[in-house]
Amino acid sequence: MLTISSPNMHRGRLEPVELVVLHTAQAPCLPGRAAGVMQYLSRGEVGASAHYCCDPTATVAGVAEHDTAWGAAGANANGIHIEQCGYAEYGRVEWPSWNDPWPQQMLREQLIPLIADLCRRHNIPPVVPTVEQLRSGRVKGITTHVLVNAAFRRGDHWDCGENYPLDDVVRAVAARLGDFTPTDQGEPVVLLIRSASTGSLWWWNGQTRALIQPRTAGRTWTQIEASLRNLIALHPSATTWPDGALHRDLEDWDLELIPIA
Ligand SMILES: [Zn+2]
Repeated sequence: MLTISSPNMHRGRLEPVELVVLHTAQAPCLPGRAAGVMQYLSRGEVGASAHYCCDPTATVAGVAEHDTAWGAAGANANGIHIEQCGYAEYGRVEWPSWNDPWPQQMLREQLIPLIADLCRRHNIPPVVPTVEQLRSGRVKGITTHVLVNAAFRRGDHWDCGENYPLDDVVRAVAARLGDFTPTDQGEPVVLLIRSASTGSLWWWNGQTRALIQPRTAGRTWTQIEASLRNLIALHPSATTWPDGALHRDLEDWDLELIPIA
């Protein structure tokens, strides 16, 4: 698969992958267009990105799945974002339809197999969470940019549009998955999260997030980080740090994630 990477992303993830978030790229649904969309998203000044983009004959990768794309505020930390060549206006008067041959081919041959693969690998059930479930931040499923915005009210994008056949797509994914049932994720990877500007550290184990504060004057962040790495190596499931607030999407935080397997 062709990969066109983008600087518009955060290294690592604050949360496990739970959502597949669908977008329309606002570009014609024609063969070869996915690479053009990803080229556009690879420009730093665009300030947006996606993990994949589909057109009728190809899927192009962008941000790696283990990194955080800038797709839809509220569902970046836990989302895999897929752009589709097409317009949110599809199905309106004088616009193409999602039932036209090219969009149908894209859905059938590129998008649906991709989503089924993501569901299998990330233990995501083929269901559409409600807006309330999305807002809770702890639900798995397949959704769209407009539903994420309805949940978090942090953007005005309305893709994939009112005529997008989301239920048909999810049904087709379910049929492809057969009797697959998601299982528990198992032990999460422990992350140390370091602010690139202040050097301060957070802890994240998939459930508990906490600001780590030095208790001994004169210790450097580098020394603290070394102690924490040793501690984590001894107690990978330790959750004894005090609770702290950390923004889900890392936006406005100059942070770097340091995965510790
Ligand atoms: Zn979008």
